[in-house]
Amino acid sequence: MNSRQRTTNAIFGKSVDRPPCVPLIDISYAAAVAGIDVSQCFLDPAKHAEALAEVLQRHPEIDGLSVNISLDDEIMLRRTTKKDRHIVQTTGGLTWNIPFNDIGSVKETEIKSFDDPRIDEDDPFSPGITNTLRAIPPGVRNNYFINAGVTGAFSQVAFLMGLENVMLASVDNPPGLLGAVEKRLPFALRWIENMAELDPAGIWIGEGVASASLISPDTYRKFVLPFEQVLFDRLRQLKIPGILHICGRLDGILDIIPESRCDCLELDWQVDIAEAAKCIGDQVALKGNLNTSILVQSDEREIRTLSRNTIEKASQAGGFILSSGCCLGRDTPPENVDAMAMATVDYRENKKEPGFFNCFD
Ligand SMILES: [Zn+2]
Repeated sequence: MNSRQRTTNAIFGKSVDRPPCVPLIDISYAAAVAGIDVSQCFLDPAKHAEALAEVLQRHPEIDGLSVNISLDDEIMLRRTTKKDRHIVQTTGGLTWNIPFNDIGSVKETEIKSFDDPRIDEDDPFSPGITNTLRAIPPGVRNNYFINAGVTGAFSQVAFLMGLENVMLASVDNPPGLLGAVEKRLPFALRWIENMAELDPAGIWIGEGVASASLISPDTYRKFVLPFEQVLFDRLRQLKIPGILHICGRLDGILDIIPESRCDCLELDWQVDIAEAAKCIGDQVALKGNLNTSILVQSDEREIRTLSRNTIEKASQAGGFILSSGCCLGRDTPPENVDAMAMATVDYRENKKEPGFFNCFD
């Protein structure tokens, strides 16, 4: 059973030899492992792909990782370099602030109105991720669970217009916001189609800003859920496992998330995984949810115990993948990633032990 099969089986509640371990490793941690600045990966899909492949060489026991963000040359309009950062203007009216050795973020947005034609026309998001996935050697893609990201329609609008504007519009101008999210849906669908040709092990729909830490359950139901349903239905038609990631808390929306028709929910550390397993674990697989700060600060022994406890807590779920709750930080000690993987190997060695986790038997 290779890593891709193990993880796919876990998502669909089929038997596995041990719980898979797919930490949410993307650009920051990969750059650190490859010994290059994070911005080099952020601005170059080929370099990004090389760094991800290096992570799998460094950590042969993990079962996969994620392709989450990258900017491709084709969407860049202007690039300047300051003392310690790159400033990049891209299509979609976005200005990105990219420190040399840190993850880039949107610094300014130009789109102020839902009538701006760039909402209908520009796609600054998909080329970087699609080209990174393409640059990962096929052998790696076949053996490991490469979880390729698609930014959900709602989060795309939040990127393009700024989160604060989107949150205000959800109250002041719901039809305008809904129209904008509708306009971004075809972009997300095309993104899926383009990546499907590369046979990704899974597609990850990122709705980072749909968190209950930021929006209400009503807003989720109205502006996020219907569009997630369209994307996950398409993934089911394409027979690609669909994984939903929402950052932060899920108060008030946890029980409706299976309505998104995702196959797997990636949980952040703020969510009690035992409660999630009890509440929705019979409907979707769970992936999670070690605290990324603890992964930076703790030692191997603590991480191995925490990982084992997390596996045990998730035991009521029909399928489970051990992971970090969100993207692994650049400064995470590699030994702690090893410790996560070793906790799943421990399970294989101890699985006859009575009382210890048996949902995967
Ligand atoms: Zn997150």
